[in-house]
Amino acid sequence: AYSTGVRRVTLIPGHGIGPEITVAVQKIFEAAKVPIEWDEVDVTAVRGPDGKFGIPQKAIDSVNTNKIGLKGPLMTPVGKGYRSLNLALRKEFDLYANVRPCKSLDGIKTLYDDVDVVTIRENTEGEYSGIEHEIVDGVVQSIKLITEEASKRVAEFAFQFATENNRKKVTAVHKANIMRMSDGLFLRCCRDVATKYPDIKFEERYLDTVCLNMVQDPSKFDVLVMPNLYGDIMSDMCSGLVGGLGLTPSGNIGKNGALFESVHGTAPDIAGKDLANPTALLLSAIMMLRHLQLNEHADRVQNACYEVLREGKALTGDLGGTGKCSDYTNAVISKLN
Ligand code: NAD
Repeated sequence: AYSTGVRRVTLIPGHGIGPEITVAVQKIFEAAKVPIEWDEVDVTAVRGPDGKFGIPQKAIDSVNTNKIGLKGPLMTPVGKGYRSLNLALRKEFDLYANVRPCKSLDGIKTLYDDVDVVTIRENTEGEYSGIEHEIVDGVVQSIKLITEEASKRVAEFAFQFATENNRKKVTAVHKANIMRMSDGLFLRCCRDVATKYPDIKFEERYLDTVCLNMVQDPSKFDVLVMPNLYGDIMSDMCSGLVGGLGLTPSGNIGKNGALFESVHGTAPDIAGKDLANPTALLLSAIMMLRHLQLNEHADRVQNACYEVLREGKALTGDLGGTGKCSDYTNAVISKLN
């Protein structure tokens, strides 16, 4: 539980369009009198003792102190000696669950208008454990690591999330018919946790079947929980069903903190031109407010944002409009009530 006073939040504006969309969120939150104080940090990579570039210590300290952060997109330079800053943040804070709510938005025309699913992806192991080696010339091996500990905690998170957000069903997505031991363990952990939540319906589905059914009728699904790779792909697929990455929020939840972020990149083609769509970061910031149990503030800002999308007058270029980032921001502010 959090206190009702002003909350200090680490703010990582990021690169490219990051600073513009961050300012948009800050302006909207200020106008809505959200009780948040921003602790802004720069995460431009610095060279560490091992000669590799990584996150500056100041940024790490800030997240460790505040336990909660909002982050724009980060550019990972291509070349030797750099590692992904996003990955580094995920590792540093053990952000084990990636949560992406994908909900149809009025005013955004897509194939379906009744999508309301949340993908919960195990974020630390599975196919992305990063253990790969060449056995002999022409033969490589990549290890998919599944542990009971990580599977249980992400399953627990999924059921807890479902409970707190009035969700009715959790679907475990797997391929335990083929990956008998690894996905089998993941699935068993989900089953075990499910028994503690009798009010939430639990079902198990094969990944391929979920893909098929999701594009046929997304209303069949509610909360989905799955290993890393499946979650990476499914979460983007579900984003596509509601209008793409420019509209999809996400949260990375860890044991000792949480980092909320837009899932799109730095959009170098439009950076610095006041053309970016701040919706994904704004909706991520709203998710963060709910995580802080500032639900009334979250509802108020969310209603204003949804209203602007529904009206369709101030939409940015990626949504087919001619509005600038600042026009959109002002429109949201004008809808706050
Ligand atoms: P991108 O998401 O930056 O851009 C893809 C296309 O979508 C571009 O045309 C861009 O203009 C558009 N777009 C993206 N976000 C938008 C927004 N909010 N409003 C309007 N249009 C938007 O993907 P990319 O070009 O593959 O990657 C560019 C850089 O971003 C790379 O350095 C990559 O490493 C980084 N990246 C970071 C993250 C992250 O930090 N989470 C995620 C993906 C890519």
